[in-house]
Amino acid sequence: MLRRCWPFPVAALLVLALTAAGAAADEVGGDADPDRVPLGVVMLDGIAFPVVEEHPVAPIVTTPCTNQIRLMAGTRLDTVDIVIDPGHGGPETGSVGANRLYERDLNLEVALLTEQELTELGYSVTLTRRTDLHMPIRQRSAIARALAPQVFISIHHNGGAVRPSDDPGTETFHQVNNPDSRRLAGILYEEIQETFSAYDVEWVDTVHQGASSRLKAAGEDAYGVLRLAPEVTSVITEALYMSHSPEARLMADPEVKAAEAAALARGIDRYLTTDDPGSGFRRSFVDPAMTGTGTGVGCVDPDYASWAEVSSGYTEAEHEALIAAADRLGRSPDWMQRFGVRTLDFFSRLDRRASDVSSPSLRTPDVSGTMVVTSSWTEREREVLRRVADLYGVTEAEAQKLGAELMVVLAGRLG
Ligand SMILES: [Zn+2]
Repeated sequence: MLRRCWPFPVAALLVLALTAAGAAADEVGGDADPDRVPLGVVMLDGIAFPVVEEHPVAPIVTTPCTNQIRLMAGTRLDTVDIVIDPGHGGPETGSVGANRLYERDLNLEVALLTEQELTELGYSVTLTRRTDLHMPIRQRSAIARALAPQVFISIHHNGGAVRPSDDPGTETFHQVNNPDSRRLAGILYEEIQETFSAYDVEWVDTVHQGASSRLKAAGEDAYGVLRLAPEVTSVITEALYMSHSPEARLMADPEVKAAEAAALARGIDRYLTTDDPGSGFRRSFVDPAMTGTGTGVGCVDPDYASWAEVSSGYTEAEHEALIAAADRLGRSPDWMQRFGVRTLDFFSRLDRRASDVSSPSLRTPDVSGTMVVTSSWTEREREVLRRVADLYGVTEAEAQKLGAELMVVLAGRLG
């Protein structure tokens, strides 16, 4: 089988990327260069890799841990309407509720629901992370810059307040010098505040309840996601206090998460389609003590550079059968291919012939059909694909289709 070989060691790649980009080396690790031209992202397995440098073989991108690699697989995406950033992730948990609700998980859940709402409204949306992933702030901003969305929203939930309040302590933060960001923060404050006010809970708040800017002593935005992509209209939402048990309990309710997501989507839609001014504005304030998280210290990437994609072709009829079976199992066609391959591998390891369950599929599948289903394989997972391909004496693309056909048969038996 074709194995990829890497023409340059990683260090040489780094040098090449930095030189070719014409970027000063001191920009790496520091604030972004406001003049840098956005180059889009490569999407692979739901992760956005901002393109740093075009290259005829494959673009050089930054990984979630901000390492530069050459990415051989994935789909290019130039721009979207909205980028949603679920705050924290991985070892950076954010606030933790007394009920063991982690902010990083809650942020992601609300982000995915918000994406769904916005997609239904007709907007194109990308998330900075779709899984529990460690990602430094500057990578989140790099994604924003690369996609140049109309709105970048970083979803957080708050911690720390102890002062009793008659109403929810919602805080939204905007870019200090961007009137659009300020208006968006004011509208989102209205929507979140109205939504949560409907619940009867003992609330807490701080003096910063409302829409404002948190600044460093020098007068710039204290939050990296607001500061590092100055040309992108960006806001942070901090709904509720997870450190306060009644609010953490409320936030664990799926209905409440859905209500917050609907509020965020409504707010973004109002910002994009009306001139509503927003409200709840407070004076910006200096917070020199703010440390924050999201430094990415100790961030470790999987070996993304070795990820590869394998495409299998289907006829229209085969593709329809695959979609129907995938729907029945509540999965995607890509999942059918990958899980099918693992299932074939599993059967072979049981020393049973896969033909016991997949007799209709034992012929070598024809993968020349025009309906193409592509699956991404990490290097380790791909060993399974290679093993199955060898076992049946077929190509990797054919093995993938064999796996999918097995799943279609199994789905039929389940139905
Ligand atoms: Zn947070």
